[in-house]
Amino acid sequence: MTQVIRYISLLICSLFVMSCTTKDTPKAVLVIHGGAGWISRGSVTDSMEQAYINTLKESLLKGRAILQKGGPSLDAVQIAIEHLEDSPLFNAGKGSVFTYHETNEMDSAIMDGATLNAGAATGVATIKNPIQVARAVLDHSVHVFLSGAGAEEFAIEQGLKQVDSSYFFTQNNYDKLLKAKASMEVVKQDKLGTVGAVALDNNGNLAAGTSTGGMTNKRYGRIGDVPVIGAGTYAENGVCGISATGHGEYFIRHVVAHDIAARIKYANQSIQQASNEVILALKAKGGLGGVIGLDANGNVVMPFNTKGMFRGYISLEGDPVVALYGTN
Ligand code: ASP
Repeated sequence: MTQVIRYISLLICSLFVMSCTTKDTPKAVLVIHGGAGWISRGSVTDSMEQAYINTLKESLLKGRAILQKGGPSLDAVQIAIEHLEDSPLFNAGKGSVFTYHETNEMDSAIMDGATLNAGAATGVATIKNPIQVARAVLDHSVHVFLSGAGAEEFAIEQGLKQVDSSYFFTQNNYDKLLKAKASMEVVKQDKLGTVGAVALDNNGNLAAGTSTGGMTNKRYGRIGDVPVIGAGTYAENGVCGISATGHGEYFIRHVVAHDIAARIKYANQSIQQASNEVILALKAKGGLGGVIGLDANGNVVMPFNTKGMFRGYISLEGDPVVALYGTN
């Protein structure tokens, strides 16, 4: 009899431990964006729409493979972004837009929520995957933010792949520049196309990264929000990870990514409330764009105040979920 009682109490005990473990195990998840803007149904052809969907899904699957192996969120973020950088469809890496001077100047950043260590680079012109420059700064430099020739020199020292600047030429982006110049637009902001990723891994570590060619027709060594930690990119364990896309000048001035984190941290807001309020308030000031984010429990947010935003997420199991358009 005592044997049976002991067995039952052991069973109850282990069930209790199991339920605690299940509850405490972080919900590993990856969320990505491929830029926000005037993306609406009918504004892209069916085949282009399919190409966007496929590339976003591939990026999610590549990033998830890291998380499934128990790998760190930083690696998942980097791999997901590299895939988008290699596609001409998005304004990052291969598909980067042109400056006024017909060059490509790319910005990138990545942040580790566990340590608050971060790496960022601006004015990258010949490194194939700018997110790798940010990651190398995070891992191998005593600094956080490198620019222009210095960033390139560091990247080459680190053995990152260099390409001829012609690698970044796409006719579509060049035509966009000519159009922007002809209409005297200071910066072109129709379909913005920056890429970003946020991940939560099995150890509860959050990471966020963003990569961009900036804005068509940008001038004078302009730097956007992407590599500015707290503006376009931010991650802090126990709080959230955020990657932004939109008109960078507004995201810098409103310190968007860190504002969302601060509301969660100090005002007890949920990530949904914090990100919705920030993106709505930004629109009221004229700032167009959106963010993707995850909180410490793996809750996904993807708010935007433009017509659409290329976006998607994936959990440890199940199919990738991808969307392009808004409801209006
Ligand atoms: N935020 C980027 C920038 O201002 C542009 C974008 O998101 O597409 O450089």
